[in-house]
Amino acid sequence: MSGAKTLLRIEHLKKEYPGATPLRDLNLTVNAGEVIAIIGPSGTGKSTLLRMINQLERVTSGKIFFGDEEITAPSSRIDHLRQNVGMIFQSFNLFSHLTVVENIMAAPMSLLGLSKQDAYDRAKRLLAKVGLSQKALSYPDELSGGQQQRIAIVRALAMEPKILLFDEPTSALDPAMVGEVEAVIRQVAESGVTMLIVTHDMDFARKISSRVLYLDEGGVYEDGTPEEIFERPRREKTRQFIKNLKVLSIAVEARDFDFIGCHAEIEAFGRKNGVPEDVVRGLLLLFEELVTQLLLPRLPEPPRILWSAEYDAKEGCAEVSVHYGDNGAPFDATESDNEISLRIVRGCAENIRYAAESGGPYGNLLSMTVRHPPKKD
Ligand code: ADP
Ligand code: MG
Repeated sequence: MSGAKTLLRIEHLKKEYPGATPLRDLNLTVNAGEVIAIIGPSGTGKSTLLRMINQLERVTSGKIFFGDEEITAPSSRIDHLRQNVGMIFQSFNLFSHLTVVENIMAAPMSLLGLSKQDAYDRAKRLLAKVGLSQKALSYPDELSGGQQQRIAIVRALAMEPKILLFDEPTSALDPAMVGEVEAVIRQVAESGVTMLIVTHDMDFARKISSRVLYLDEGGVYEDGTPEEIFERPRREKTRQFIKNLKVLSIAVEARDFDFIGCHAEIEAFGRKNGVPEDVVRGLLLLFEELVTQLLLPRLPEPPRILWSAEYDAKEGCAEVSVHYGDNGAPFDATESDNEISLRIVRGCAENIRYAAESGGPYGNLLSMTVRHPPKKD
């Protein structure tokens, strides 16, 4: 074993609520300097775990050690722990009646006993690091969501914690603001602070972490490097979870289907999986031309289409399959006189194959590959 210093150790952690037991037997050792992404289906106790590490909630049984101190022991001092553990929530939780700089100064003054001047200097220094010096005297509601979350991170950092816990720090943000917050988290990670980050953003998880924990069945179900968890998960549930993340399925079963919603789903899928922008553009265009131009006008009522895309990060391409029809007479949608749509489809996809699927619920399958960079006409 390496000489890495253990910062956090969790033994046989159990948490029972009246209606649910999300954690049954969780064991974990975190070394100083590790950046750990925590992933898993919702309801598997990810937030619960962070709340118990931060002593916002009591454990049902089991032990948590921070350094040499057992923080689950009745004699443990919560205020002492709180100085060492910072937590950033989904909703930024800033004090709305305090200015940005006052938000950051409050805890260092009251809990660490810093003088007003020292707390102010520290706040200003940290604000400069995240590019928000000019917002020191603003109130939280004058800032964008992304800026508020950056301030929440600064506020936690002002306590110089030994470990930072993030509970889905970007999931309440507009997509446009995710990047700035992730950049700040990455900057903090590089400074050597130990971090546990619960996230649904797998691309972010993969890029930022040195280790990934997949939570399921009441504990750490699989533990590995980002490469291991995302590329070669060993256990069944991890495999299924990772596979599902990489597949987007959209069912279209009405002519007035939610086109805008489908667009947003494809874009979100792209972001989540780190799909290059031009591949996402190809997927959007392909969806539009295939579904609205080549299929819907020719399918009988009610139209039935199942469009799915799976992204292959290694190859940098997406495999698209489109099942359609009502298992009536087979028809190949690429045999159309809509030349414009066909050209667009061929411009963004290659290796287009049609197969009749007699006996299947749809009857027809078109498959194709969308590449990065897309083929030029
Ligand atoms: P995750 O963050 O992985 O989505 P949570 O830790 O929020 O999961 O919740 C795990 C389970 O515990 C869920 O079934 C949830 O309903 C339940 N739970 C969480 N907090 C409470 C609570 N305060 N009271 C009762 N049940 C709760
Ligand atoms: Mg949660």
